[in-house]
Amino acid sequence: MAALASVTVLTLAVSTSADSGHLTTGTTTATGAGPIPPARSAALAPCMISGRTDVQMSEGVPTPAGYSRSTGTVRALTLMIDFSDAPGPGSALDRFREFFPQTREWFRTSSYGRLDYRAETPVNGWLRMPKPFRAYGTERGAPFDPGYRDLVQDIVAAADPRVDFRRYDFLNVLMTPNAGPSALDTVLSVTFAGNTEAPVADGVPVANASFVYSRQDDGSGSYDRTGYRVLPHENGHVFGLPDLYTQEGGGAVGHWDIMSEDWGANNDLLGWHKWKLGWLDATQVGCATAPGTTEYTLTPLARAGGPKLVFVPVSPKTGYAVELRTRAGNDETVCRPGVLIYRVDADIDTGMGPIRVYDSHQDSGGCTRSPNVHAELSDAPFKPGEDFRDPKRGIRIAVAGAGAGASGEYRVLVSRR
Ligand SMILES: [Zn+2]
Repeated sequence: MAALASVTVLTLAVSTSADSGHLTTGTTTATGAGPIPPARSAALAPCMISGRTDVQMSEGVPTPAGYSRSTGTVRALTLMIDFSDAPGPGSALDRFREFFPQTREWFRTSSYGRLDYRAETPVNGWLRMPKPFRAYGTERGAPFDPGYRDLVQDIVAAADPRVDFRRYDFLNVLMTPNAGPSALDTVLSVTFAGNTEAPVADGVPVANASFVYSRQDDGSGSYDRTGYRVLPHENGHVFGLPDLYTQEGGGAVGHWDIMSEDWGANNDLLGWHKWKLGWLDATQVGCATAPGTTEYTLTPLARAGGPKLVFVPVSPKTGYAVELRTRAGNDETVCRPGVLIYRVDADIDTGMGPIRVYDSHQDSGGCTRSPNVHAELSDAPFKPGEDFRDPKRGIRIAVAGAGAGASGEYRVLVSRR
């Protein structure tokens, strides 16, 4: 299975002006609604870290305007595209069914029902582009100009007679799977998010658009069950989430977030991302600023209700996040349930390691052999009796105990000087 390790680096988040390295934000999306601010209160203010303005996609809270809303009902215009040199095989709706209803269900589960994701197909056949696929020059990491600009303009022109773009929050483009190389060779899937340079359709910019190519089929026979997962990853970008994998692959976060690994068995989002997306109430987030020792309770992240996230800010830009991960909901590969601890840095850009998970069992080899799951970090969670220390800053995060009974809650002690 060594060959598969190389395919864990998946997809790229590219902003409108990758040439200057600056994401232009501030205009509105198709529906005029940016991401809603996450649940907040005065007590949470020190935990709302933010990064420099030249960070393209930051882990900062709240997410800046320009991305799609991530709560309530969102409508995803979903178009199936083909080309004269890559004609769509079979029915375009069969291509649609590779991703739905699974993607809708994935978001419903992860958001505790707060995101009602509706994919609509006003054009239910293949939408033929006027130029052959190779003429657009869409390679891995291709910037928005010129190929993608041409492609989006051609998509708008071809779809416009049958589509009112004002009805939708973002665009999904499901390419015919025979356009471009196999995803085992190179993954072309990409999202242009918060794109103020986007072509305008029906008076609104196509500012948030996810493109999915090929099939993420690792040959293990699980494609029908797990192959859709590239789309929730790409849509994570339209909601403003950065990539958590780096040039070295999934070694920073492992399988603990779909923005890190979207091949293989299902996984959820980190609690930090759920807060950022507006899926946690203020009462579900603890902000650990007080000197001395404070006790917190955590309930399993995959289950609705109860406290989910403790954040220990160490600067206006960084801090430690603490949450309880168990095998439930979208988290189907968890092999060592426990308290996951990770560092969030709002100044580190997408794909550069803005989040790093701490491994409670370094160099153990991990506890999973599931394909396309970063094994070493699979046993990262801390158990009762174990702790994480940052001696320089005088911070200790200790797992005090796991509650008996059905609630499955854990107690965590945060100490800081
Ligand atoms: Zn990505």
